[in-house]
Amino acid sequence: MIAQNFEYFKPTTLGEALALLADGSAAKPLAGGMSLIPMMKLRLAAPEKLVDLSGLGLSGIQEGEGGWIRIGATTTHHDVESSALLRLKCPLLPETASNIGDMQVRNMGTIGGSVAHADPSADYPAALLALEAQLIIAGAGGATRKVHIEDFLVDAMTVALEPGELITEIHVPAEEAGTAVCYRKVVQRASGFAVVGIAVRLRKDGEGKVTFARVGVTGLAAKAFRATRVEVALVSGASVADAAAKVTDGVDANADIHASADYRTHLARVHTARAIAAALSSGAS
Ligand code: FAD
Repeated sequence: MIAQNFEYFKPTTLGEALALLADGSAAKPLAGGMSLIPMMKLRLAAPEKLVDLSGLGLSGIQEGEGGWIRIGATTTHHDVESSALLRLKCPLLPETASNIGDMQVRNMGTIGGSVAHADPSADYPAALLALEAQLIIAGAGGATRKVHIEDFLVDAMTVALEPGELITEIHVPAEEAGTAVCYRKVVQRASGFAVVGIAVRLRKDGEGKVTFARVGVTGLAAKAFRATRVEVALVSGASVADAAAKVTDGVDANADIHASADYRTHLARVHTARAIAAALSSGAS
């Protein structure tokens, strides 16, 4: 399949990019192209202008203020996966990135592109929800706003971005000592996407009681979500199995060629329990 004709721009400043994108729905940002280019070839997207973000200097990972780590929107999955800073201070994200697609996809695809695309089976959203990440978004004239990931993910392939806006950074917390994490995923063999994916962050006290729990889920429903009922059950002293069973409470499970709703429900419960057990045994204290 061949994409509809388009004009290609490669700006070198954020201001120039935002000015080009101010053309509304006729112009689209291009990051790694791993989702946008296939959609254009299938004619599911037909932007008149592509604004390549790779010349804007929006890649990189650094410690910010207030215990946050700042990740540039065009940082590739490979750079997230291999970041020494993230491995030390926010290990859930590199673990999640290492589960995305294959090496070619991880070399090209970006964290900002993945979050903006909001595929209901994408891996990062589960981890970013568990991390309570914040997104920095720039709009017309360079004005910026900060949006919590939970408010950003609206529905399948739908996010809280206005036409002409760009994600410039994603902020994740540097973990407190004693936080244990795990990302566990059932893979669609053909693409690498998640049939279900579960991201867990836990802390426990000296007696082994869970004192802090965050659980993000992808693949199960129309959009990734935080499984707050699982979190509450864990800190209330429920068993791992009883807490994990709550991951599907009130959830309208997806059904597609990869898994029926019943099978996805089953997978989500089993893999939530496994992810919690793995985090607990990996040394939360
Ligand atoms: P692009 O494709 O360039 O853009 C995607 C969308 O986001 C477009 O609408 C674009 O306009 C918009 N956009 C891009 N950057 C920004 C920005 N900074 N601000 C605002 N809007 C922006 N993903 C997974 O999570 N798990 C997998 O296992 C997985 N497997 C894959 C396997 C294959 C074979 C392929 C082709 C893709 C796979 N993906 C998977 C998707 C991959 O992670 C993509 O990289 C990602 O979804 C999109 O990122 P991108 O940088 O390529 O964005």
